[in-house]
This record gives sequence, structure tokens and C-alpha cells, in this order.
Amino acid sequence: MTSARTIRVRGVVQGVGFRPFVYRLARANTLTGWVLNGEQGVEIFVEGADAGLEEFVRDLVAKAPPAANIAEMQVARAEPLGLLDFTIRESAHLNRPTVRVSPDLPVCDECLSELLDSSNRRFHYPYINCTNCGPRYTVILGLPYDRPNTTMNSWPLDAFCSAEYSDPDNRRFHAQPVACPECGPLYFLHTGKQIDGGKDVIAKAAAMLRDGKILAVKGLGGYHLACDARNAPTVAQLRERKFRKERPFALMVRNLSIARTIVELTEDSEQLLTGVARPIVLAPAKVEFPEVAPGNNELGVMLPYTPLHHLLFEQGAPEILVMTSANRSSEPIAYEDEDALRSLAEIADAFLVGERPIARRVDDSVVRAGTFGPAILRRSRGYAPAAVITLPSQQPILALGADLKNAVTLVVNGQAFVSQHIGDLDHFSAFRAFQETSRDLLAMYEVRLDELLVVHDAHPQYRSTTHALSLPVPGRLAVQHHRAHIASVLAERGDWDTRVAGVSFDGTGYGDDGTIWGGEIFGGTLRSGFQRVAHLRPALLPGGDAAARYPVQAAAGFLSQLETLPDLCAHPFDFPSRYRTARELIDRKVRCFQTTSMGRLFDTVAALVGFTREITYEGQAAIWLEQLAKRSMTSASYPFPFVENELDFRPLLSAVIADRRRGESPQKIARSFQRAVAEGLARALREVCSAESMETVVLSGGVFQNELLLQNLKPLLERNRLQVWTNHAVPANDGGISLGQAALAAFAGVK
Ligand SMILES: [Zn+2]
Ligand SMILES: [Zn+2]
Repeated sequence: MTSARTIRVRGVVQGVGFRPFVYRLARANTLTGWVLNGEQGVEIFVEGADAGLEEFVRDLVAKAPPAANIAEMQVARAEPLGLLDFTIRESAHLNRPTVRVSPDLPVCDECLSELLDSSNRRFHYPYINCTNCGPRYTVILGLPYDRPNTTMNSWPLDAFCSAEYSDPDNRRFHAQPVACPECGPLYFLHTGKQIDGGKDVIAKAAAMLRDGKILAVKGLGGYHLACDARNAPTVAQLRERKFRKERPFALMVRNLSIARTIVELTEDSEQLLTGVARPIVLAPAKVEFPEVAPGNNELGVMLPYTPLHHLLFEQGAPEILVMTSANRSSEPIAYEDEDALRSLAEIADAFLVGERPIARRVDDSVVRAGTFGPAILRRSRGYAPAAVITLPSQQPILALGADLKNAVTLVVNGQAFVSQHIGDLDHFSAFRAFQETSRDLLAMYEVRLDELLVVHDAHPQYRSTTHALSLPVPGRLAVQHHRAHIASVLAERGDWDTRVAGVSFDGTGYGDDGTIWGGEIFGGTLRSGFQRVAHLRPALLPGGDAAARYPVQAAAGFLSQLETLPDLCAHPFDFPSRYRTARELIDRKVRCFQTTSMGRLFDTVAALVGFTREITYEGQAAIWLEQLAKRSMTSASYPFPFVENELDFRPLLSAVIADRRRGESPQKIARSFQRAVAEGLARALREVCSAESMETVVLSGGVFQNELLLQNLKPLLERNRLQVWTNHAVPANDGGISLGQAALAAFAGVK
């Protein structure tokens, strides 16, 4: 008995070897029909015996290629057509594409063993790849995903590659970036005026790394600066040349066993480290590398993910390399050759440059196995541009995020695509990247401006806001910063109706009343919106947002709320004169803003226990304070009462000052402070939740990247029988804002 089925599969199913897999599966079950890449996903028609059809449908999901991610599958009965064979049809291009572009994939085991096999045609060829591995998002110029639409379009396949490309039984069948040393792009080593294109350029580059040189290495989504992590003078030189004073550098290690020797890895962090996204994983350091992560007892470690990385190690590069995004200071990562050669000329001793162009810049992602599960700190390569969720919106939405740690979200046909990490928009080049990325997403999904709802932060002076206002679009919506944080967690979970207590703790965001918020508790649902129900007691912020750079300036604003204060410019506080200047602003009521920022409260305490200088990267003082606290085991705490819906920091700060004057160690004070914040928040949540009969707490905002705070909070909230939801798919920091904005906009539209 012959029957037939039409099957439509949506999700990440293009560019991951899905069609050849379907072909092989159909043949294995003696079915005929066809498969094609449609704009609605992969479309399949199969006919044959019922048993074969059943097995086919079951294995379609059960045995799908590792990189495929099936979001939805529709199976319908159809009339058999009496087809004689199974074929892979050409891609169809009819309406707006809804297929999902695959993130880039790490080199697979099969390609890796060919790479190291001297009898293989692609022996030591840094661009080896197949349908299970290799570049995707970083080579795609347009959809559908076919070779002419990739940055490989200027390398015609030779007979060898072409034969593999057209053989459905080969794992390179329709592998769009396929190439070999005869027909594909190559790597060159630029040293001074010399350009070396010989077969041994990677060995030469590895030797330079061994000799303590700094190399700019072109990778998947941009250039890295690489050097020997054990060579402290070289790492110090890299810092100096890069104008990067203290921010930690990421490490790339040869393999997992070496990773285990330098950081403490849990099962969860190993899973992240070896997972298909191959991110940088933050973990406690076992070994100190001077200059790599000054004053930080965590290291960021990743494994090699491109064939080139494997080759560098194979050919003798040091087994632990600094591998940091190539840029000056905090500009976006360099990805175009000319730009890299020019802008990195003063930093790199040599350049290892591959010919394959990079379609768009995509940084390494940064993650951590956290107290409440995996936490993404920077979402980029390996994750972007996968769709994060489905939202009930037929109108396309472009959400522009916030100005720090910017990422944008495009919602098209209800699917929310969150872009790669872009950066801080006050840098001109990051702002340009922000515009490019928005345009790029709109073009890829063929969304026109005249049908678009644009969502932006409520801050009137954000660059992303002024950009939103300049776009010729039919609809615009401003979303308050901290509500967007809470919405991002609920959106990730697809939970639109659970009433939650949403805690949004971060540095700064523009509040409903025009003051600077950042220590907020909301009640509500994603569908109906969030009402502010509690917050940190307001303090002052002299100099406004600029105070974020100087912990003592933030301290001036918070400490001005205390009745009595010792001379903080004297020992043991030793505040610099900036503190006095800030106090004068307060006394004269000049350029002082009201704030409920929890981030600035952390800065204040950091200043009181010794961090009195300027910070050199966002969140530095809070991270410093967390690291300091980890060195004490005290179970002491400070009073942080919750009175009339306000967390009152005054008794807390008075106690910190008293302990410090008594000569208590900064570690112990830092630890007691972290505990006090957790206890104060837990008390506030108990009250808020029982008053409004809520059982679920959402935690988001940059402050919740603090693992110690989460560890302290967990048992306290469990004791109160409150379940806790945090971000897993997008960052808790401002990198997650655009998803929350998009979600709130989707519901604002359907009310
Ligand atoms: Zn492969
Ligand atoms: Zn070839």
C-alpha cells in the first residue's frame, strides 16, 4: 500500500546538512519524492510504504544532524504521485524568507581528522568544512543560503570539490563554503613589508607566537590578537599597545585537558565549553597569569573552533594563548582586512590573513555556568542570529536596545532574531556597526521600513533613541529600560501571563519620572505590563551618568543621605579630591540627579573599602568588590531594611563606615555587604510577593551577573517558597534589552 506525505520543517534547517540527511533517510526507507529549501523552511514530499513513511517521519527528528534545530514540523497526508526516485530540488524564492540562518559552527571531528591526515587533499587546509561544520552567518550575504549568496562566491569549485558538492552521499553535498587548497582561499602571513603565501605560513605564525610576538589572526567573525599567555612581558606589551588597562583578556587553550589545568570546571561549564557554540567560558582560575586578568580570580577560556586554530596549536603555538578581539580600546572587533591592517599596525607584530571575506563582524560569546543555570554575558558567535523565541506579532518589529552593550532584535513573522553583540554606541564605530546590523537584518528578512514598528529605550538622549526618531517608519514605541529587562526573561520562557515580581538591578536607566532608576521591583505580566511596586531609597548622583566612571563620585551622592560622616578624604578611606568636588555639587544643588541605582550603591561600597580610582571598563568596581568578597568566609551581614516599599541603604552604609574605621578587613566588609543586599532583597520580595500573592521572582539587569549575590539569594528565596527565573538565552545585562523591548511592543500592539 503506497501513501504520501508533505512535510514542512521550520527552525535552523538550512546550511546544516539537513537536505542531504533527508535524502539519505528517504533512500534508506525506500521512499521517493523530493526535498527543497523553501522560504518557509525545508519542504519535503515523500511517498512509499506506510511503515517506511512512519520510520522516516520519526527519524527526521530523532536522527537530525547535530547542528540542526527543528522548531516546528507539520506533516500532512497527500496523494501519491508515482515518483520513481528521490531528488533534491533547487531552492525556491517566493515570499519573505522565514528560514533561520544558522550560527557559525565549530570544525567537526571528521573534518578535523582529514585536516591532520597527510594523505588527504585538504591536509593542513585552514578552510576545510562540510555540511556539519564551518562558517554560516559570517559568510552569508543573502538568503536563500546558496554559494552565490556567500563570501565564497569568487572561488569556483574545481572538479574535486564539485564532485563532492553534487554527491548526495557525500557529507559535503551542498556544503556552500566547501573548498580545497587547489580551488579555495588561502592564508598569508604579513610581516612588515613582506607577504608570505607559502605552505608553511601557519607554522611560521606559530613560531612567532612561541617567540613572544603579538599576531593579528583573521578568524570567523573578525580578527583576534594572539600571544603566549605565559609570556607576561608580551601580554603587558599587548595591554599597552591596545590601550586596555585592566579588562581581562580571553584565553584559547589547545584542548579540554589543558583547560582543566588552568580553571576549575564543573560538569556544566565543560558542557558549555565543548558545546556547539564554543563560547568563552568564565571559571575560577587555578593558575595565575600575570597581566591576563588583573585583580580577577576568574579566567575566560575557550577551545579552538576553526581549523586554523587547531593548526596553530598543531604546528607548535604555545598551548595557552591570549586570544582577544582585535580592536583598539573598546571599539568593535575589526573584520575587514584593510581596516585591520591599518588600525592594528601599531599593535600586531605580524598578520595572519585569510582570503575569505567576513560578511559581518561577530565577536566571541561569553558565558558562565551560573547559580541558576547557564548565563550569557555576551551573546554573539555560535548563538547569533538564531531565533530566540516566537512572539504574537504579525507586524515586523525592530527593537534597538540600549546604548551600552547594544544588540538589536528583529521580529519577523513572529520570530524574534536577536543580533550579535554590537558594543557601546558612544563609540562612533560601534554606532556605525549598530546601523549596519539593523540594515543587515532588515535586508536579510526583506523587511521594509514602511511596515516597521521601531522600539527604543525611553531615555531621550540615547543615540539609539535619536536614531529611532530619525527613521521613516509608521510606528514607534518607547519602552522603559528596567521593564525591558524583566520582559526579556519572560519572553525567553514564552511566558506571557504569569504574574511575577520582577527585580531589575543595574547601573542606570531612564525612569518614568525622569530620574535615574536602577534598583527597581515591578509586579505584573508580560501581556499586561509591569507596575513599579518597590525600589531602592532614592539617593543623589552628582554629575549624572558620568558618575558611573568614578565610584567616589557615586559615593558622594549616596553618603550625602547620611546624618553624620567622618572625613572620607582622611585615612582609612583616602578619597581623592574628586569626592570633595562632587560634594560641592550636592551642597550647591548643581547637576545633581535623583537616583535609585543599585549599581551605584555597589560602587559606593567599593569606594569605601578601597576602590577610589576611575574605573576602566563598565561594571569594574562591582566586579572588584565581588572578587574581594570571595576572599572572606564571614557569615556576618549589615542591616538593609525594607520600609514602606523602599530598601533603605543608610543603616547599611553607616555600618560599613563604622567597620572600616574599626579596622575590619575590606574582604570581610565586602562579603557582609553582599550578604546584606541578598537579605534585604529577599525580605523585600517576601513582602511584595505576599502582598500581591505572587510566587515567582524574575531577576535581571547587570547587577545579577554577580554570582556571589545569586548564591546568597538562592537559599533565602527557596526558604520563602519563591521560584526564581533568570536570563539564559540573552544576557541579563543591557545585551538583553532589545528582546524585552520587542516582547513588550508585541503585546502593546495586540492589547
Ligand atoms: Zn566538517
Ligand atoms: Zn577544490
